[in-house]
Amino acid sequence: MPQLLRIATMPDLSSPRLAIVGGGPAGLMAAEVLLAQGAAVDLYDAMPSPGRKFLLAGVGGMNITHSEPYAAFVARYGASMAHIRPWLERFGPQAVRDWVHGLGIDTFVGSSGRVFPVEMKAAPLLRAWLQRLREAGLVLHVRHRFQGWTPQGALRFATPDGETVHSADACLLALGGGSWAKLGSDGAWVGLLRGHGIDVAALRPANCGFDIGWSEVLRSRFAGAPLKSVAASPDGENWRRGECVITAGGIEGSLVYALSAALRDRIEAEGSATLYLDLAPDRDLARLRGELGRPRASASIANHLRRQTGIEGVKASLLRECLSRDDFQDMGRLAESIKCLPLRLTAPRPLDEAISSAGGVRFAALDPGLMLLARPGVFCAGEMLDWEAPTGGYLLTACLASGRHAAEGMLDWLGRRSTPG
Ligand SMILES: Cc1cc2nc3c(=O)[nH]c(=O)nc-3n(C[C@H](O)[C@H](O)[C@H](O)COP(=O)(O)OP(=O)(O)OC[C@H]3O[C@@H](n4cnc5c(N)ncnc54)[C@H](O)[C@@H]3O)c2cc1C
Repeated sequence: MPQLLRIATMPDLSSPRLAIVGGGPAGLMAAEVLLAQGAAVDLYDAMPSPGRKFLLAGVGGMNITHSEPYAAFVARYGASMAHIRPWLERFGPQAVRDWVHGLGIDTFVGSSGRVFPVEMKAAPLLRAWLQRLREAGLVLHVRHRFQGWTPQGALRFATPDGETVHSADACLLALGGGSWAKLGSDGAWVGLLRGHGIDVAALRPANCGFDIGWSEVLRSRFAGAPLKSVAASPDGENWRRGECVITAGGIEGSLVYALSAALRDRIEAEGSATLYLDLAPDRDLARLRGELGRPRASASIANHLRRQTGIEGVKASLLRECLSRDDFQDMGRLAESIKCLPLRLTAPRPLDEAISSAGGVRFAALDPGLMLLARPGVFCAGEMLDWEAPTGGYLLTACLASGRHAAEGMLDWLGRRSTPG
């Protein structure tokens, strides 16, 4: 017997039988919309339980959406904004908060404007959500790995008991991106959909760290060291403040993630990219020049730097790592480097380590209701679509909103199909 996670009250069997593949936030939200219309919904997931990446997202503090003004919020989706705006108009950041409240969970706005559930966790929210979906009649089939379609259009699944085939009046794929494969979304669907003639842009790391060829000295002493109160820029002109972390192989953290799309694209185009760091964003260059220009007497440069500017530890070691011996001893060059230290990034970290994926099913392969033009009756939602966004709640908001949008697209399509003429 294939694994079944509890069956609650079954909806009216005269209603359409709909399939959702992928039990992340996009698939679960689609299920909610379809169940609310009285459809019979089967949700299939490859893993032993749904929502595993959603749960992981909750480990570091489940940032579900953002409270900034709507125009600024929408602009975070960059080149994909025009595609995503219609989803957000129906289910935007405020709707996400209301929806969380509807599950009995309060939210709060952090100092950065990010919105979190009060407990900062995903588990209570997912529990309440799954409970509500089960009560609405959701039939959850776990350990069902989607394998494509039979020639007749039925869904093929690999299960621990062998291959099974399920028919549905329409189906919605919400298979996620390609990072953190052990949580279920492994991107294996890319080859599968391409094999069915669907145009999919290659998955690429988004919100990711980067490789830098550190010396053994820096690596051994500072891997894991946070770089606090710094600013970073992909071009030496547009600066952003925040925090990042030195890793054994390079650099990561929220500040780097925020710039990662531009840096990744530059590496792809040019083979490497430069990330500029301002190690003292609260001091301007003139002040630093003045401080470092004071008499040093017999003090070492490291001591002079620390006494005059407060720069020490990992920041001082980064300067020593990146500057030539002559530049490190030249107080004018040292001051300039504190304000704009170039780091050469050689590669993004692998997709599996990224927070999210860029790439996916191209919008040109979909109709406005997110139905695949090449496969009428098959809809797509969530991170598997070709868009990307920074961290800050934008990923989950768009995944939830796209799940709603695709489910509404499916209902609309079913309605048009059943209406003669
Ligand atoms: C460490 C980390 C922290 C994050 N923190 C945040 C955050 O704070 N805020 C935020 O907005 N976003 C965050 N994200 C991103 C967010 O979790 C994802 O964007 C979101 O979960 C994507 O939702 P989805 O439904 O599209 O796909 P997923 O959540 O990836 O779900 C896809 C589902 O499809 C299933 N599946 C895949 N292939 C198959 C198959 N062939 N057959 C059957 N089932 C299949 C998977 O098992 C999985 O359950 C974080 C991500 C990570 C990795």
